[in-house]
Formats: sequence, structure tokens, C-alpha cells
Amino acid sequence: METKTKQNNILKIGLISLGCPKNLVDSENLLGILHQDGYEITLDEQNADIVVVNTCSFIKEAEQESVRTILNLTEVGKKVIIAGCLPQKHGEELRKVIPEAYGFVGTGDLHKISDIIKGNSSFEVQKTPHHRHIEDAKRFHISIGPGAYVKIAEGCDYSCSFCVIPSLRGKYTSRPIESVVKEAQELAKEGVSEIILIAQDTTNYGKDIYGKPSLPALLEKLNDIDEISWIRIMYFYPSLANDELLDTMARLEKVVKYIDIPLQHSHPDILKMMNRPAIDNGRLIEKIREKINDVAIRTVFITGFPGETEQHFEHLYNFIEKYRFDKLGVFEYSKEASTVSGKLKGQVSAKVKKYRKNQLMKLQQGISTEINQSLIGKTIPSIIETVSPKQVIGRTYRDAPEIDGLVYINTTESLTPGDIVNVKITHATEYDLKGIIPS
Ligand code: SF4
Repeated sequence: METKTKQNNILKIGLISLGCPKNLVDSENLLGILHQDGYEITLDEQNADIVVVNTCSFIKEAEQESVRTILNLTEVGKKVIIAGCLPQKHGEELRKVIPEAYGFVGTGDLHKISDIIKGNSSFEVQKTPHHRHIEDAKRFHISIGPGAYVKIAEGCDYSCSFCVIPSLRGKYTSRPIESVVKEAQELAKEGVSEIILIAQDTTNYGKDIYGKPSLPALLEKLNDIDEISWIRIMYFYPSLANDELLDTMARLEKVVKYIDIPLQHSHPDILKMMNRPAIDNGRLIEKIREKINDVAIRTVFITGFPGETEQHFEHLYNFIEKYRFDKLGVFEYSKEASTVSGKLKGQVSAKVKKYRKNQLMKLQQGISTEINQSLIGKTIPSIIETVSPKQVIGRTYRDAPEIDGLVYINTTESLTPGDIVNVKITHATEYDLKGIIPS
């Protein structure tokens, strides 16, 4: 049986985290458990005795990347534990395909990671995952900077027809307010200035434990933490962006005026086939802009959903042209066999999906450039990301880490990552900005 020590040395565990920020938080929680259980954590997987690969299985490309990463490690003789969405989706099948893996652990069983390392078990994947938030071990940060992600809930109760998440992550499960606040306080002590709230859908936060969506109540508590400067909320669900939430966002000074709201499409027929809320998304965008001054809105759309005709696509194109989103992502529809939409008739060819995506991206390039150029001369609160002798790089409140742009600041002031400063914008491109700190 494998034990915690190897020839009297403590086993070194490496980890590769694939996929989204939610997976990254899981990865850091996994490392927290292992660290608490006495293993040595290494960020250099070549130097590790065992490597945990926390996988993504959202679409085919993500699965391929997960499998490639695993095989690259097993081919050089590494012991690999496959964690997260890939074993959750494929279960025993994956064990047959990659028998050389040292162990498998699903999304609802991450707390059993030490049992797998000890050799007490090699396969911990429940058929229907029930997520447990890991509260008893301190998260081991591999990504800490001026901003840090905080996962407030896991799972999803919706059933968008293109999405595998509910089957991979289980029912929506919130963390209690006290638990989120405690983590935010700990992050603040470690020097984090911005906390970024994530979940599959942040706007449903608390419904399962408090009987109603309670994100506003959570924001009130987080806003009271002195050392935190910014609170950013990602992943809104359109029908839950209600007046109470928008008014709370507008009122609380630390909540950045940025809304990330995946709309997926504009045409009611396509939204219906996607099993998304049949609400007037255009009116919603207007309401957000009326209620929150200078708000920046990010959204994503899918091109080539089954049944999408030229007319549907034109509707989407016109919608984007009319509502001029500050930030926009476009994905080509990915047919996943296990989803409802994967079985729909009217699948759109790869060529058309790509062409439509490119059309939207081209449209957005012009919109983004114009919006960014309209910022020239304005002074925008920004967080300092990195400081080097050559340059200071920040990010305005209008930009989320990793997905949006940066602001390159020309200054001689002595600044530290995490500082919030007012930057006067002097130059703008489609993505990034340049600016100075006005005296
Ligand atoms: S709300 Fe998001 S996570 Fe939930 S089913 Fe829809 S796309 Fe998937």
C-alpha cells in the first residue's frame, strides 16, 4: 500500500488545472486537503511523484486537451490521478480507455483525494454528483494576485439544452454567507484587493439554503470587509438580474459596475430551443444601463445552434449592433452527444458556424474599438496588476481578469499590485488601453 512517505521522504504532489476558474478553485481546494494531510505540493509536475490532472469536459476540444495532458504525463512514467469533469462524465468507461491512470476522482468526491493517493481506493466517482464545499482545509493558492476567485455555489438547476454541466456538477449548492465572508477575509489578510465571485450562476446564490436568491445579502456583508477594495460578480443568469440585485450593485461602492451576463442568443425561437428564459433580453440590457451608471456589460453568444437559420443569425447580428456590448465572446456551437441539443435536427455545418462567428467577431472589433476610444480623456478607477522597472500594468473596473483587456500606465509613482488608482486614458485599441495617473 502506498503511504504518505516514499523512502522516508514526503510524497510530492503536482497538479495541472484545466478549464474554467471554477475548476481552478476546486484545484486549489484539492491542494489544500493534500497540504493539510502532510503531502508536499510542487508546482513543477516533472518533479512530482504523483500528478493530479483536474480535467474539463465542457466540450469536445476541452476533453481532447484533458486526454492529451494525461497521456503526456503517463507516457513519461508519471503516476496520474484524473480528477473532475472527465471521470464524472465517462465513469468506468474512462478507466477502460486510460487503464494506466493511478486513480479517478469525480466532481462530488474531491474530498477523497488522499484515499486515492494512499492506495485505499482507485475509483471514486458517484453517478450523480453531490457537491460538498470543502470548508475544513485551507485553500492552497496557486493563482493568488491582486484579484482572487471565490466560488459561492456549485452545480446548476437549469437545463439549457446544449449544456452538460448539471450532469457533471449536480444540483445547485450554495455555501453559507458566513463561509464566503470568512474566505474573503482570509484572502484580504493575504493581500487580495479584488474578490471575483463565481458559480455556474451567481444570481441564484442562496436559493437552496435561504429559500430565495440572496446575492444582495452576501454583497452587503462582503462590502463591509475593510481590506477588500473591489467585489466583482461573474456569470449572471438573465431572468435573475432583478431590480433588487441591480439596485444593490448600484448602491454598494465596492461592487464594481461590471456585469457578465451570458445571453447565448437573441432570437426567441433559438432561446426556446436552448431552453433559456424567454425574456426580452434587449429590455434587460436597457434596464441594467438605466440602473447602473457607467456599467460595462460582457456577454457571450453561440453561433450555429441546431436550427439557426440565416434569419435567426441576422436577428443576433442586429441585436449586437443595437446593444453594443462592451465585451463580447462568441463560441461556435459544439455538438455534445449527451445533451438534448446534440440530438436535435437541423445541425449547422462547421463552415457556417465558423463563418457566423467570424462575422460577429468582426462586428464586435469595430464596436470595442469605438467604445474604448470613447474612454480617451476619461479617468477610470483601475487596479494595479504588476509593477516592474519598465512598466506598470493595471486593469480598469471595466475589465475582468484573464478575459478582458489591460491598461498600460505611464507613471513614476510608487505603486504596489492591488492598489486602486484613477487612470486617465490617453490611448485605446480594441482590447487594451494606455493611460497616466493625473497629478
Ligand atoms: S445556466 Fe449555465 S451551467 Fe446551467 S445549464 Fe445553462 S449553460 Fe449550463
